[in-house]
Amino acid sequence: MLKTRLKKHFFKTADCLSPFNLIRKLNKGPLVLVYHGVEKELINPRVQTLHIPLPTFEQQMDFLRRSRQVISMDDLYSCLFHNHPLDPSHILITFDDGYKNNRSLAAPLLESLGFPFSVFISTRHVEERRRFPIYRLRAALYYAENKKLAVRCLDTTFDLDTKAQRGRALEAISGVLKTSPRRLVESIVQDVTGSISEERWLEIDHLFSSEEPMDWGDIRQLSDRGVTIGSHCHDHFILNASQEPAEIEYQLSTSKRLIEQNAGRCSYIAYPNGGKEDITPGALRMVRDNRYLLGFTSVKGVIRDGVHPFLLARVFAPDDLDRFKFRVKNACLYHPRYSRWAGRLGGAERPN
Ligand SMILES: [Zn+2]
Repeated sequence: MLKTRLKKHFFKTADCLSPFNLIRKLNKGPLVLVYHGVEKELINPRVQTLHIPLPTFEQQMDFLRRSRQVISMDDLYSCLFHNHPLDPSHILITFDDGYKNNRSLAAPLLESLGFPFSVFISTRHVEERRRFPIYRLRAALYYAENKKLAVRCLDTTFDLDTKAQRGRALEAISGVLKTSPRRLVESIVQDVTGSISEERWLEIDHLFSSEEPMDWGDIRQLSDRGVTIGSHCHDHFILNASQEPAEIEYQLSTSKRLIEQNAGRCSYIAYPNGGKEDITPGALRMVRDNRYLLGFTSVKGVIRDGVHPFLLARVFAPDDLDRFKFRVKNACLYHPRYSRWAGRLGGAERPN
């Protein structure tokens, strides 16, 4: 009996003293989750890599209902700027890109639970109902008509016979898409699209309706129901160091103006791709000058007092429940690395 009690005491003390526990305690803070889309049934998860099955999403929301308080983007802003305390039980739900299934599948569930949420949209994709380059690429890798993908503007043809070849082509082309100016991205998309006939694209697009972006009617419906609409640039444009300042300005200002015209207000932005290389001090200045109030990255961490408001951390929601619970509980472990990066990059570029 005494032995069991001592053992229990030993493990409790060891857990309290473990460095992970200490990091958890020091870095507690609200968490911002990133989703892209929710789909009833995934036909080809390699193409629909950004969407999670609806039953999994329902389980995750049920977990949040029982364990967390979901707050809105305006609530978070008030906590950061109007001295409302930051509460580690607070969590925010965000969706990037603006897929139609955000309105048709995610919104009804979130509304029934009374959960506020935000959608960051790329306005050109909304205006033109244009699907995203990464979908065109993934679909072409699996459905190209002669198992070859010719990207003329890169002067390269990729063989697509094996899984490894498709993986290499995906890595090579998506790497270029993420670091290239808009015109080159458009040429790549054109070449990739050309690997499949128009009639076949109609069938493929129909099969993958999950990739369809919302139109302004969808956006207005969400906005009228209290959903926060934010910018994800005009063209899903990545704001890295190789981009021209005039283009960055155009992306930030155009998306904000179009959202304000169609949804009334646009105060928040999530940077496309959003990694450590995808936002620069110059872009941060332009985000501030365009009167955004908060900017969200995809760098993992939590929200703590004193964070840079244009370099806020977020955490991707994985597509299974156990990994989701683990990540929600342990996101604070990522925080020290995030803080070092944000401190270095943010430096002098704080808002006025
Ligand atoms: Zn995105």
